[in-house]
Amino acid sequence: MKTSALIVGAGPVGLTLAIELARFGVPMRIIDKAPQRTDKSKALVLWSRSLELLERSRVSQHLVDAGYKVEGVTISADKRPIGRLTMDGLLSAYPFALMLPQSDTERILEEFLNDLGVQVDRQVELLNFNDTGEKVDARLHHADGTEEMVETSWLIGCDGAHSTVRHLLGKEFHGETSLIDWLLADIHLVDVPRTPEINIGWHSDGVLATFPISKNRYRIVADVGSAHSSSARLPEPTLADVQTVLDKRFPGGARATDAVWLSSFRINERKVADYRGGRAFLAGDAAHVHSPMGGQGMNTGMQDVCNLAWKLALVVHGRASAELLNTYSPERSPVAEAVLKVTGRITSVATVKNKLGQALRNHTASLILGMSPARKFASNLAGELSIAYSHSPLNARGKYLAPHPGERAPIRQQESPVGAGGAPQFAIFGKAEDIPTDLLLRFGSLLEPSVREPFTPEGLWVVRPDGYTALSAKSGDWHAVSTYFENIITKGSAL
Ligand SMILES: Cc1cc2nc3c(=O)[nH]c(=O)nc-3n(C[C@H](O)[C@H](O)[C@H](O)COP(=O)(O)OP(=O)(O)OC[C@H]3O[C@@H](n4cnc5c(N)ncnc54)[C@H](O)[C@@H]3O)c2cc1C
Repeated sequence: MKTSALIVGAGPVGLTLAIELARFGVPMRIIDKAPQRTDKSKALVLWSRSLELLERSRVSQHLVDAGYKVEGVTISADKRPIGRLTMDGLLSAYPFALMLPQSDTERILEEFLNDLGVQVDRQVELLNFNDTGEKVDARLHHADGTEEMVETSWLIGCDGAHSTVRHLLGKEFHGETSLIDWLLADIHLVDVPRTPEINIGWHSDGVLATFPISKNRYRIVADVGSAHSSSARLPEPTLADVQTVLDKRFPGGARATDAVWLSSFRINERKVADYRGGRAFLAGDAAHVHSPMGGQGMNTGMQDVCNLAWKLALVVHGRASAELLNTYSPERSPVAEAVLKVTGRITSVATVKNKLGQALRNHTASLILGMSPARKFASNLAGELSIAYSHSPLNARGKYLAPHPGERAPIRQQESPVGAGGAPQFAIFGKAEDIPTDLLLRFGSLLEPSVREPFTPEGLWVVRPDGYTALSAKSGDWHAVSTYFENIITKGSAL
C-alpha cells in the first residue's frame, strides 16, 4: 500500500493532524496499536488558541458544545484568595478555558474525522521503518498476527511519550523525572457549589488544584510527598486518601464520592532537540512532555500539528519546496522549551516547602496578581495567545505595522482559505485593490484570490494558512509580497 502521510498514533495529536490533512486533501493513513480510545479524563483543558486553530476545520464548535467554559483561575494561599486571573478579557472568539475530559476530546475528534471519510486503523502497531531518502517503508503489525509493509512519503510520530518513532530515529529525550509524588482524582464532590473557576490552593503542606468538569464532578491534583528513589512507586490512591487531602486543604471542607479515576503520577519534563529526522517527524508527547500543572501538554501537541499540516500539504500538493518542512522544528521546538520553563516554574513555586519561601511566594504573588498588566500577561500566556514564531525562517525581513511577522493575526480562523484540491492558501490583508496580475500568475495557487480588509489602513499583510503573520509591509508594496513567495517556493524560507 502507498500513501502520502502515515500518522502513527490516534491520540488527540494524531487525530488533529489527520483532520487537518484530510481538510487539505492529503492522502493519508492513521494507525493506533490500542484497541480503543482512552477512557481517562487526562488532559482536561482546551485553551483559546487551540480552539482558534481547530476552528478552521470547524471542529471547535463540537468541542465547545460538549465542554464546560471556565472564565477564571483563583489562586489562594492558606485557604485565603490572593489573586484571580480572568479569561473573559482575552481578545479571542474563545475567551475561556474549555474543560473537557480527554476521552471526550478524542471521541469528538475521531467522529469528526470519520465524517471527513477517514477511519483510524486500530490494533495496528508500527514496528519499524526504513527511510530511503525518497520514501519511507513502514512495517506494521496487525492484531491477527499478520504484518504489512506500507510505503509513505512522510511519517509522523504522534505516538506519545514512549514513542516508537522517536526510538527508531535514535533521538534523545532530554530532561528529568521529578521525585515528587502527585495524586490525581477525577471524583464527585458533595455540598460544594459549582463554580466556573479553576482553584489553585497553596498550603503549608502542599498544593491542591481543583478543576470543575461537569455538575459535581471535579479533577483534583495534589502533591503528596517525595520519593527517595525513582524506582519507589506510590500505590494507586484510594478515595480515603483523596478525602484526607481535601480535609486538610479544601476551604470549608468537601466530601469526595463516586471516583471516576484515581491515579498517581510523577512529573516528567523532557524534550527532543529536533522534531525531524529525514522523512519522519515527531509531534505532541512524542517530542515533549511537561508538568501537567499548566495544562499545556495536549494543547502544545495539537498546535504542533496545526503548524506541520499546512506545510506537509503544500509539499504533497507540489506547491512548495520540501525545504519548507525544515521550518517545523525551529518554529515548534522553542514553544515547547518555553512551556517546559513556565510549567516547571509554576510547579516549583506551588510545591515550595520552607515557611520563609512560602511567605515570600504568597506575598509576591499577591502583589503581582494585583497588577492589571501582569494579570493580562498571565491570562494571554495561559490561553496560549502570546505564542509567536518571532525568529522563524518563514518571517519576511523587516516589520512595518503590527501584527509583525511571526505574530498571531487577529482573524477568525474559520476564514482560513483553501484552494483547489484543498491545498492551503495564504491570505492577503490590505487596501481594496486587486492583487497584481503577475503575482497571481506566478503564485496564484498559493494565494487567496481577493484582498481582505487591512488591520490598519496603511499596511499590507500576508497571513499564513495557520493564522500567523508572514509579512507586514507598506500598503502597495507588492514587490515584498512577490519576493516572499519566490523564496518560500524555491527555498522553503523567507530569507
Ligand atoms: C494525569 C494527566 C493529566 C494531564 N492534564 C493535561 C491538561 O490538563 N492539559 C493538557 O494539555 N495536557 C494534559 N496532559 C497531557 C496529555 O494527556 C498529553 O499531552 C496528550 O495525551 C498527548 O497526546 P498525544 O496524542 O501526543 O499522545 P497520546 O495521547 O499518548 O497518544 C499516543 C497514541 O499513540 C499510540 N501508539 C503508541 N505507540 C504506537 C505504535 N508503535 N504504533 C501505533 N500506535 C502507537 C498509543 O496507543 C496512543 O493512542 C495530562 C496528562 C496526564 C497523564
